Amino acid sequence: MSDLTADAVATEQLGAGNPAAPGGGRTVTAAVPPSLGTRLAAGVTATGEPDLIDTVAPLTGERLASLPQSTPADVEVAFQLARRAQAAWAALPVRRRAAVLLRFHDLLLKRQDEVLDLIQAETGKARLHAFEEVLAVAMAARHYGRAAHSYLRDKRRGGALPVLTHAVEARRPKGVIGHISPWNYPLELSVGDALPAFVAGNAVVNKPDTQTALTALWARELLVEAGLPADLWQVVIGDGPVIGPAVVEHADYVSFTGSTRTGRDVAQRAAARLVGASLELGGKNAMLVLSDADLDAAAAGAVRACFSSAGQLCISIERLLVHRSVADAFLERFAARTRALRLGGGLAYGADMGSLVSVRQLETTTRHVEEAVKAGATVVAGGRARPDLGPFFFEPTILDGVTPEMAVCAEETFGPVVSVYRFDTEDEAVAAANSTPYGLNSSVWTRDLRRGRSVAARLHTGTVNVNEAYAAAYGSVGSPMGGMGDSGLGRRHGAEGILRFTEAQTIATQRLMPIAPSFGLDDRQFAAVMTGGLRALKALRFK
Ligand code: NAD
Repeated sequence: MSDLTADAVATEQLGAGNPAAPGGGRTVTAAVPPSLGTRLAAGVTATGEPDLIDTVAPLTGERLASLPQSTPADVEVAFQLARRAQAAWAALPVRRRAAVLLRFHDLLLKRQDEVLDLIQAETGKARLHAFEEVLAVAMAARHYGRAAHSYLRDKRRGGALPVLTHAVEARRPKGVIGHISPWNYPLELSVGDALPAFVAGNAVVNKPDTQTALTALWARELLVEAGLPADLWQVVIGDGPVIGPAVVEHADYVSFTGSTRTGRDVAQRAAARLVGASLELGGKNAMLVLSDADLDAAAAGAVRACFSSAGQLCISIERLLVHRSVADAFLERFAARTRALRLGGGLAYGADMGSLVSVRQLETTTRHVEEAVKAGATVVAGGRARPDLGPFFFEPTILDGVTPEMAVCAEETFGPVVSVYRFDTEDEAVAAANSTPYGLNSSVWTRDLRRGRSVAARLHTGTVNVNEAYAAAYGSVGSPMGGMGDSGLGRRHGAEGILRFTEAQTIATQRLMPIAPSFGLDDRQFAAVMTGGLRALKALRFK
């Protein structure tokens, strides 16, 4: 345990007849001790006497921390400091930079309790879901720590003229990355995405969401302890529409994770400056339960898919498409598991689902459920806010009978709410899954793995999980993850996840003869020789 304290683990099983408060449970405190808050806040780039902003602990509704706010001028300072540090960092061999990631990996696993407390305090999520962030970051640190060298090393390419042209593709760092991240996975989406940027030789100016800035600042401290030069990762804090555009204004490349609406604005600003951007945006993800699925496994998977981090997960499932022949049997199992979930807010393992992060998330979730019910949908499980557990708790909720005019049908809820739909044929299921402008993640359940992969290939999403909710694809960090359509542009993880932070540079060296008329050939003769040469190269299967 770190210096955050939990008086008790308050958990409660969801279900009719449970008492309003957990039996004998004491209140949970999730306040950040002033010493820790002050230490971490010192990592914010904010000059002079900055305005302070308070964050609220989702578990209690009380003040969590007071953080200095950066101004657009501070953002400029952050870029200057980062730019200065970047030159020396980029000059180091890749293996030296990668060693920092591998040390960070070990430190993170060793000190995970500190950050699990912080993540829970800032987001209100269950500890198991906070641990998923540690998992994801450790996997990314290991992968890029080990594989960066092969992604980034110079690659010999076929030259214009065989033997005579020596061509090499090299990768240069972009410079300073503007990295804007949301509150829902504060560790993974701040440092997880920054790791490939650093190992590729860049500096990063990060604007985390204010609500979860302490987690990002903690990660920064740990990475510095692992050997990252302190100025290389600047953290600026403030209102998104005020300092977000300033980050985009100075960046050599933008890495943004957040809503589709903000993503469009960021993309336009980046485009106007002709700098690249990767955008990891929202989703309305579907899970398909085919007629031959293992229904117990699918029901357990659906619980993970729909209610991890109380549904505040971009890749979580909000639409459950079930083959009509197994729908009742599946729903019975899924509803039973959902009703058995233990809600709680203690800073310890034990609860199956925690709180929503804010009143905004609670309002959207409540509105989606209430409007749907008013328009004729049925609540199969959950359906209510739980102020008795904490100000932003909402029960894991299953809706049946949802129709297209209901907001919950097509809009991202970003809460613990899933709607169940029935289908008769595979074509119908694929069409329904693809009937959204989003395209982030999907999940297919079947005992026939070949069939699962062939259905997966027809789904318009950046990741598809067969017989898993989301962790199989997300955790396969050597393979790209991201969204099609309104879910984004670009990918994290794998080659794309690191090469996006580089500029490709081709260095071609010509020997012995120029690529122009020479050795006494006139233009016509040169053209004839080259034409013959091209034919020969094709015949010899040169690429
Ligand atoms: P948001 O777009 O409101 O905010 C994201 C970040 O952008 C925050 O740091 C915010 O302060 C900042 N911001 C706000 N206005 C800005 C502006 N005008 N210019 C620049 N930055 C600005 O998103 P949110 O509600 O905080 O996050 C939830 C959303 O993020 C959901 O839609 C979710 O699906 C999505 N998300 C996507 C992924 C993914 O990998 N695809 C991962 C996590 C979350």
